[in-house]
Amino acid sequence: MEFTLICRFCKAPLAYSFVDLGMSPLANSFLRREKLYQKECFYPLHVFVCGECFLVQLSALLAPDQIFSDYAYFSSYSETWLKHAQDYVENMVERFGFDAGSQVIEIGSNDGYLLRYFKKMGVPVLGVEPAKNVAKVAQAANIPTMVKFFGLETAKDIIKEGIQADLLVANNVLAQAPELNDFVHGLKILLKPHGIVTIEVPHLVKLMDENQFDTIYHEHFSYFSFITLQRVFAEHGLIIFDVEQLPTHGGSLRLYGRHADDETKSITTSVEDLRGRELQAGLNLLETYATFAPRVQKTKRKLLEFLIQAKRSGKSIVGYGAPAKGNTLLNYCGIRSDFIDYTVDRSPHKQNHYLPGTHIPIYHPDRIKDTRPDYVLILPWNLKNEIMQLMQHIRQWGGRFVVPIPKVEVYA
Ligand SMILES: [Zn+2]
Repeated sequence: MEFTLICRFCKAPLAYSFVDLGMSPLANSFLRREKLYQKECFYPLHVFVCGECFLVQLSALLAPDQIFSDYAYFSSYSETWLKHAQDYVENMVERFGFDAGSQVIEIGSNDGYLLRYFKKMGVPVLGVEPAKNVAKVAQAANIPTMVKFFGLETAKDIIKEGIQADLLVANNVLAQAPELNDFVHGLKILLKPHGIVTIEVPHLVKLMDENQFDTIYHEHFSYFSFITLQRVFAEHGLIIFDVEQLPTHGGSLRLYGRHADDETKSITTSVEDLRGRELQAGLNLLETYATFAPRVQKTKRKLLEFLIQAKRSGKSIVGYGAPAKGNTLLNYCGIRSDFIDYTVDRSPHKQNHYLPGTHIPIYHPDRIKDTRPDYVLILPWNLKNEIMQLMQHIRQWGGRFVVPIPKVEVYA
């Protein structure tokens, strides 16, 4: 029988490959020791680009509760990230004047890392978070949190309780929505007539320009250009009236959306500027997307060349961090403990576990002081400055940092 994948937004057949990263386990499925001796599930990590709407996407053949039920990511563990959240809250309150009479709703509210800043300023908040273990942490900190996947049904449930949003926040969740149209439809109905929705999403242009193929993993179904985002929102009666480019996650967009018929907020010039730049860069042409896979393959060869050379000269290499992106990189490149002795992570939820697929052990960062490795490979390269600062003591024994993306670089 003929089998065709279809675009999760416009339903056109998905006929064009963007990049094939092979088979990979779920990037956040860290393993306990006893699991090392059992079978492990691997799924295809093959990304396509739609020839109609240019949405870059994984096929939606995984059930979401398989992915998110015991999600190990706790936002509060990164200081850079907390600062980003705090700055955002202060900006929003200053720019739009949210106060005790406003309602903020955050989709994918994690452990309440962001809503707590609104709460501190006296603005009523509600979080929506599908991962039970993570939502519990927020509830314990008195952040009202619904344990649910977001979509049209959840939006209706919230409205039934008499709640609608003056500010609807959806940071780093749009890419994770398996049902993209259902998700954006939910945003549309949950927003008050003059409400604002802000969305942060990794920018596909940065992913392509800076070779960030490791940010592709099963939890991320969609990879957005601005022109495609405009189209998705327009389809649901929402208009993007402002856009900012942020350094987070290697380069993200912050979109400010409103109802198409709400003319109280005019469209800034940054919207047309960014659209123009993307068209200039050819993001509406399939040829542009075809250049990505060969560059990814080249990056793999370069990283392996470095590691092989280092091992040949008797050097020891360890990792820093256990982010999802590290797991894509290591699995795609086939880097196991034959190259990397171990990695470390500040999150106690990851320590004393093993990376999925590669089975590299994860320890407390102090381990690095004890074993004095020659190289520390920084897996969360988006936090490289913070990490190099934190770990500068490796220089005492001549240790050096290695950053794999956008290209292998050694920092003495
Ligand atoms: Zn499409």
